[in-house]
Amino acid sequence: MANTNFTPEQQAFIDEWERTADCRNTPEMVCPHCFGTLGDSWAYEDDEGELACPYDDCGKVFSYERRTVVTYSTSIPS
Ligand SMILES: [Zn+2]
Repeated sequence: MANTNFTPEQQAFIDEWERTADCRNTPEMVCPHCFGTLGDSWAYEDDEGELACPYDDCGKVFSYERRTVVTYSTSIPS
């Protein structure tokens, strides 16, 4: 049986985690405050850092992390 006796701090963390579920592992960055999608996320030089949301009615700071998946393809040369 799951332990549901969370402290208020733990419950707040869980609530925040669930609220921002759509902001993780997305192809473009999604602001965790207003859920606006940021285009051209690839253009940010650093793989992690903090940004101010570019949407005028939000503008709140959030942190981001870029994960890059590397794959290789091979073929027999013609
Ligand atoms: Zn925002």
